Amino acid sequence: MPQWMETQEFLDILQGLRQQARQDIAGAMDSAALEAVRVRYLGKKSPLSQLLRTVGTLPPDQRPRLGQEVNAVRQELEEELNRTARRLADAELAHRLQAEAVDVTLPGRRRRRGTRHPLTRVLEEIQDIFVSLGYWVAEGPEVELDYYNFEALNLPKGHPAREMHDSLYITEEILLRTHTSPVQVRTMKAMAPEVPVRIIAPGRVYRRDALDATHSPVFHQVEGLEVDRGTTFADLKGTLAFFAKRMFGQERQVRFRPSYFPFTEPSAEMDVSCLFCNGAGCRVCKGSGWIEILGCGSVHPFVLQESGYDPEEVSGFAFGMGLERIAMLKYGIDDIRLFLQDDLNFLRQFARG
Ligand SMILES: [Zn+2]
Repeated sequence: MPQWMETQEFLDILQGLRQQARQDIAGAMDSAALEAVRVRYLGKKSPLSQLLRTVGTLPPDQRPRLGQEVNAVRQELEEELNRTARRLADAELAHRLQAEAVDVTLPGRRRRRGTRHPLTRVLEEIQDIFVSLGYWVAEGPEVELDYYNFEALNLPKGHPAREMHDSLYITEEILLRTHTSPVQVRTMKAMAPEVPVRIIAPGRVYRRDALDATHSPVFHQVEGLEVDRGTTFADLKGTLAFFAKRMFGQERQVRFRPSYFPFTEPSAEMDVSCLFCNGAGCRVCKGSGWIEILGCGSVHPFVLQESGYDPEEVSGFAFGMGLERIAMLKYGIDDIRLFLQDDLNFLRQFARG
């Protein structure tokens, strides 16, 4: 084979390798792929290295030139590889920066602010009114002794008025309290013979009622008690009329109707002029123009005595109202079950401002 053929063949192979390498470099999509191309074309076992080793088999006068040719291609490829490596690294960095970037132009996720339950709001309003009159807030247990729930309140065992409460008993002597009135006795026993006593006692009470639009086996009462020397029924009327006007509006009229509770004597129900028809008569007040809002009366001498006070020395009055009933009247709510259902559409109506 003539020498020039071998030389030309060598140059053709070199040129073919060069073009293939440049193509592969251009086609590398990322740094890892490019590194594979580098090893393939410039590594120790690469065709270019093998080609360089064959230079020694070529005619001696051709060797320097052909060796230079191989080295020139090798240098060209190295430069091309380095340029491409930098370009890919830049692109990869830019891509990562973009992927990991925090887009500060996105609107923040707003946390929805909670609202107080309508019963809580009404209770706070009631408390504010009585605290402004010098009352303080007292509490008692929901699991109560028969003694405090009934006996000390002039409701001995077998008393027919116990049936109105139709209670949830835990044992013969322990029950879920049916009203907040036991807090009257507990407070007076703790304070006697100190006067004045002025408390309101809010809390849950339990009765064996089925749940319907106006009844619930668990509801809230707010109890009130004032005991002092010389307290009269006029004090009761003045205090509760003040409360009704502050709670439902200055234009409200109040009236007291005789009633019966074992632990007060005399006893009364207090009505306010209807909030919905202003006394003209409507469906809510059943045409009477009045709505009953609470029960009250002068503290029965038996209860004072049982609680450590001398009925000859002090007197007092007490009252109790259903918190749900007050809230329903104030906000025009017609179903007590709404207070228990956690319906956000209902509850959000009571958000302030
Ligand atoms: Zn009415």
